[in-house]
Amino acid sequence: MNLKSKKIETIAIHAGLGHESGSRAVVPPLELSTNYVHDERGYQEGDFIYTRDKNPNRLQLENLLASLEMGEACAAFSSGVAALSVVFQALDEGSHILLPNDLYHGTRNLLKKYVQRWGISYSFTNMTDMDVVKEDVRKNTRMIFVETPSNPMLHITDVEKMCNFAKSIKALVCVDNTWPTPMNLNPIYYGADLVMHSTTKYLAGHSDILGGAIIAAKKDEFFERISEIQKGQGAVPSPRDCWLLSRSIRSFPYRMRGHNENAMKVAEYLAEHPKVREVYYPGLPDHPGHDIARSQMSGFGGMISFLYDGDAKETLSVVAKTKLITRATSLGGVESTWEHRRSSESEDSTTPENLIRLSVGLEHIDDLIKDLSQALGKK
Ligand SMILES: *Cc1c(COP(=O)(O)O)cnc(C)c1O
Repeated sequence: MNLKSKKIETIAIHAGLGHESGSRAVVPPLELSTNYVHDERGYQEGDFIYTRDKNPNRLQLENLLASLEMGEACAAFSSGVAALSVVFQALDEGSHILLPNDLYHGTRNLLKKYVQRWGISYSFTNMTDMDVVKEDVRKNTRMIFVETPSNPMLHITDVEKMCNFAKSIKALVCVDNTWPTPMNLNPIYYGADLVMHSTTKYLAGHSDILGGAIIAAKKDEFFERISEIQKGQGAVPSPRDCWLLSRSIRSFPYRMRGHNENAMKVAEYLAEHPKVREVYYPGLPDHPGHDIARSQMSGFGGMISFLYDGDAKETLSVVAKTKLITRATSLGGVESTWEHRRSSESEDSTTPENLIRLSVGLEHIDDLIKDLSQALGKK
């Protein structure tokens, strides 16, 4: 079926439903076999031979993710950070990566601990200002890595402007699309070369699968490198995880709508609360990135950060008061979670000590507001 002209709700359901197994099952079966019987020609590159190289459930998932992101190819991984390591490792030795100042702390840790050993350098810049970005690129900048909204401060980067600029200096753009998801942002549409995901979050959506992916706009030589490292270093997801993730993705657009809708209402509630000093949510009209977010995104996502009117200890005690909202890290589940973000990050974290990061789930909005109200105090 040609899904190119179809909408995301349709793609999410049908791009993962191949009927090539011959069993006539409506839903693709889970195939756990690690190896496949050779035919009389012996080992044939490209066939199903051994599960690390290729297996039906991973292939289905990769086709589904590529379609969702409007890319030509996808490589699935066992986690988001595995996907990140591969996308960095695929660069030539001597390359430089430019990243945003505000960034998922796991990406920062990965850079700090491993990337230099691969002969790759990196630096950070303010991606909300293209003039600053232009000053901060280096002669050997080969990749610009974007996170928008960023984690945990929700800074917004203009993806189209960034991609146009990157093309002029022959650098690749890789967007971590974990937070906005393809429901709210399509980086490839704006010119990104690569999209990276922690599928652990919204795509899985139920806090029970760890996974990652890289989607490439073009099935080119750089993607071949990614694909080779995927198979050769073996940080691949199991068929069971691929099957379950594909299952979850079928309802993901509708979940994402609910996250967008609830988060907008929660952000509006928090913005008016006297115990809240500041709310970071790009859907609020006074957010500095609101206009860009509105033009490039179709929804503002389910993540909100805000500053509580108190010190670290008082902030931690508020986080402990909710009954419905679970005190936990990570994000993107159907259940709402929140955390004192600084405690989850490494010692050199610059996240404000009174920042609470909230992943707004799919509970009824009235119940969420009630829970927030008893934790923060009535207005
Ligand atoms: C969670 C997360 C990652 C890392 O993914 P894992 O699946 O935990 O390895 C990367 N980027 C962002 C924005 C994330 O939220």
